[in-house]
Amino acid sequence: LGRCTIVTADEGVPLVSGERVEYANLDYAASAPCLTPVAEALAAALPYYASVHRGAGHHSRVSTEAYERARRSVARFLGVRSEPADAVVFVRGTTDALNLLARAVPQDCTVVVFESEHHASLLPWEHPASRAGSVVRLPLPESPGAAVDTARAALAAAPRGPRLLCVTAASNVTGEIWPVEELVAAAHAEGARVVVDAAQYAPHLPFSLSATGADYVALSAHKLYAPFGSGVLAGRADWLREAAPYLSGGGATRLVTEDDVVWNDLPARHEAGSPNVLGAVALAAACDTLTPRVQELLHIRETSLVERLRAGLAGIGGVHELSLWDEDHPRVGIVSFVVDGIPADLLAAALSAEYGIGVRDGLFCAHPLTRHLLPAGHGQAVRASLGVGTTREHVDRLVGAVADLVEHGPRWEYADADGRLVP
Ligand code: PMP
Repeated sequence: LGRCTIVTADEGVPLVSGERVEYANLDYAASAPCLTPVAEALAAALPYYASVHRGAGHHSRVSTEAYERARRSVARFLGVRSEPADAVVFVRGTTDALNLLARAVPQDCTVVVFESEHHASLLPWEHPASRAGSVVRLPLPESPGAAVDTARAALAAAPRGPRLLCVTAASNVTGEIWPVEELVAAAHAEGARVVVDAAQYAPHLPFSLSATGADYVALSAHKLYAPFGSGVLAGRADWLREAAPYLSGGGATRLVTEDDVVWNDLPARHEAGSPNVLGAVALAAACDTLTPRVQELLHIRETSLVERLRAGLAGIGGVHELSLWDEDHPRVGIVSFVVDGIPADLLAAALSAEYGIGVRDGLFCAHPLTRHLLPAGHGQAVRASLGVGTTREHVDRLVGAVADLVEHGPRWEYADADGRLVP
């Protein structure tokens, strides 16, 4: 894996006992720590950053070159095509990317989306600024095959005109991998397009527009081992080119007169305002580090860690994993679970304070899916998610801690931010 390592804090994290331990970060699906080459690329760009596409000064030219080089790296990472022409638009993240696309679809477009989606994929189509003519929400499919059949039927039943299927490549709740290629084939057979939310997939496995045939892809840098505030929407240029600029302002314009505006072509058309050049540089460094070969090796390692985690949790009485499909269905390194008798927020607080383990608790911005999967009597779940820096010790510590908490309960009491005791 060479230089594919993460930046960590050497001093570890404090426990309530006063001890310090190495942090077992099992919250990669929320935001992944920074890769070492990303930190280096940022440090190298820092002395030079300036507004891009704005000036003839040396630093502005260096920054512009770095920004456009970053676009080429991201394009390579995502298998961007020249025929039909794809665009690579830098945005703030997946949410931003999908909101941009919702404003760029043709006026009478029907958008089809599964209810299992993350809110970033589920909701932008219904925003008042969305140009979608109608939105069809599909129920949670019982199997990957049912997902393909239901999507095909919904697209066939929609009015002829432009249609778009929005699908997440890997669930942020269960880690389950969706049958993207089959969905693309089904959608294309019906004359529809597909946008793939690769926020959780791309950090774990190579995603390519040209290999999958998908029309658009969205992702976030902060889940791909680079800091916040940057992401990408890549895909077919035509709708994006014809749409009004996502934001109005400098950079998106070619000429402004007293009574007229000539907007820029892609990608500047949708990148109004001073672009986040450091964000783009960081994202590109992550893309350059996570080559398909590196991702393949990471996935092999991660799969064995996930299986170890799932087997460990399955061996503890009262622990239930959340899965939509068959337990053997392929997944990325994400495992959500509940523990009978210990509410998820209390469990997450105790794992952090007593064992130095970072997990997420809640409904994971995918309320319909998570609520559907929760066993009776549970209002929220805990999610452990793995990545480049995850070790066997982290996984074993989590399994051991959950077993401990099931047996003895938390040793401390915990209050939420408002000072209320967590039950
Ligand atoms: N889609 C999925 C599957 C996600 O997991 C997330 C982040 N939780 C998003 C979209 C939204 O990403 P961001 O918050 O970076 O816009």
